[in-house]
Amino acid sequence: MTKKINIVLENIPFLRHDQYNFIKYQLSNIVHARLTSKDEEVINTVKLIAMDKIFSILPNLNENQQMLLSRIVNIEEQNQVDSFLTELKTYVIPFRSTSEKALSKLFPKVKKFKGPDLNTIDFRDISYIGWYDIRSERKFLVTEHNGKLIGFQGTFMKSIKGICSICNRYEDVGLFMANVKTGKETYTNRGNYICADSHKCNQNLTTLDKLHYLIELLSN
Ligand SMILES: [Zn+2]
Repeated sequence: MTKKINIVLENIPFLRHDQYNFIKYQLSNIVHARLTSKDEEVINTVKLIAMDKIFSILPNLNENQQMLLSRIVNIEEQNQVDSFLTELKTYVIPFRSTSEKALSKLFPKVKKFKGPDLNTIDFRDISYIGWYDIRSERKFLVTEHNGKLIGFQGTFMKSIKGICSICNRYEDVGLFMANVKTGKETYTNRGNYICADSHKCNQNLTTLDKLHYLIELLSN
């Protein structure tokens, strides 16, 4: 009986998408170390640092989850990484399931709302949904905050290469500007440079810190 319960617990998703990306990044460091060094001590040090970093962002793991991630010490080659990541993906908490109608309710002032094609999105692959609507020439961002979906929309001026204020990487970015309500009848434009390609941006995310900062900036 106890065994059965353990099996059920093991399969409960416990990783956020950005945490999965963080682990993926650490694994790439280990593979890189193996490819560039023959010194076992160097490789072991890289592994220990990677494990340490992973466990430091996931402090509340149960025994089964710790055991799963501890298997990283045995990983050195890309094919091992690939199969481990495939398994790990099943433990990623999917982005909250939603619909075009639910998304449109986040933007009550937008006429003829056009959402993204939700069928093409892997909900385990994202921390936010971002899309550009050509007709209204506006960029939309939807994410989860304090247990519910929130949305922002604004103008988007595609510019040059720069640092994205969501993923913190050097990418093709544009200036996203939202009209934020700051008082009873006062509004101000606030925004920042963000990736033009939201899918790529999601793949870059290894922490939600910057995304949360942007949410604070765009919230009144
Ligand atoms: Zn980005």
